[in-house]
Amino acid sequence: MPARIIDGKAVAAEVRSRVAEEVQEFAATHGGRVPGLATVLVGDDPASQVYVSNKRKQTEEVGMRSIHHGLDAATPEGELLALIAELNADDGVDGILVQLPLPDGIDQDAVIGTIDPRKDLDGLTAGSAGLLAQGRPGLVPCTPQGVMELLRHAGVEVQCAEAVIVGRSILVGRPLASLLLNASATVTVCHSRTRDLAEVCRRADVLVAAVGSPRLVTADWIKPGAAVIDVGVNRTDDGLVGDVDFEAVKEIAGAITPVPGGVGPMTIAMLLSNTLRAANARIGRSPAAAGA
Ligand code: NAP
Repeated sequence: MPARIIDGKAVAAEVRSRVAEEVQEFAATHGGRVPGLATVLVGDDPASQVYVSNKRKQTEEVGMRSIHHGLDAATPEGELLALIAELNADDGVDGILVQLPLPDGIDQDAVIGTIDPRKDLDGLTAGSAGLLAQGRPGLVPCTPQGVMELLRHAGVEVQCAEAVIVGRSILVGRPLASLLLNASATVTVCHSRTRDLAEVCRRADVLVAAVGSPRLVTADWIKPGAAVIDVGVNRTDDGLVGDVDFEAVKEIAGAITPVPGGVGPMTIAMLLSNTLRAANARIGRSPAAAGA
């Protein structure tokens, strides 16, 4: 029986509509003040411009305030660090997103490290990563959070499951490993040096591919009935494809995300959700995103 297709567009729309309702409630209890999301874009990379403009548009659509700073590619690092310090201190800013990658010559780690962890919407500071690794409340990177939301929506049992992640980046693989572990899965993280990758993947009840290699994961890597989440986005002559050979794998898996229309739409939705959580945490209403 072919797999259930997990519809990321629909789940993302639900998340956005829940956030929009909660923003109204937030404003009603705080004298009309709405959560504020500051985006910082350095340089004029066309892909980054599209990403930031989508983030700003969706921020406004859910009723939050978008504050944008577009800086010239030649901006000195010190100026960027000073802007982040200003945004850290600004009470109207609940979350900060610095669009990556930054131009050559700017130390990305130094920039990320300057963001106040309470406003760290990408969950990339060492403080946020540490809290997540310890299973404590903090802001969690958006894409892995989106993966967890999709699994929850699809009714995939994560507790006790054998989960295999292919990819160990700080943006996706590593935080996702913590999230799955915090949800009581047994987690294996694979990478480019993993021996017998196909064999390890065949053990997975939940398999997540976050590599950036078109159709790397083939049908013979899949345990029948497994949930397969494809984070990969690869531009090929056939258009946008994931890291999973979707057509073949969907005949074996129990549930699967398509590319496009799977994990992709979840990332901005979780960014909006993180902004609301950061705003609530800053006014002491609830802890920021749970690390579990
Ligand atoms: P990344 O930083 O380049 O990391 C890729 C990971 O894959 C690394 O850990 C690498 O191993 C591993 N890898 C590479 N080739 C491999 C192979 N042949 N076998 C096993 N592992 C291999 O990438 P990323 O930022 O995590 O992104 C991964 C993919 O997800 C990309 O396609 C990206 O565009 C996509 N993505 C999508 C979203 C979204 O919103 N949908 C968000 C973020 C990323 P080593 O560590 O050993 O080098």
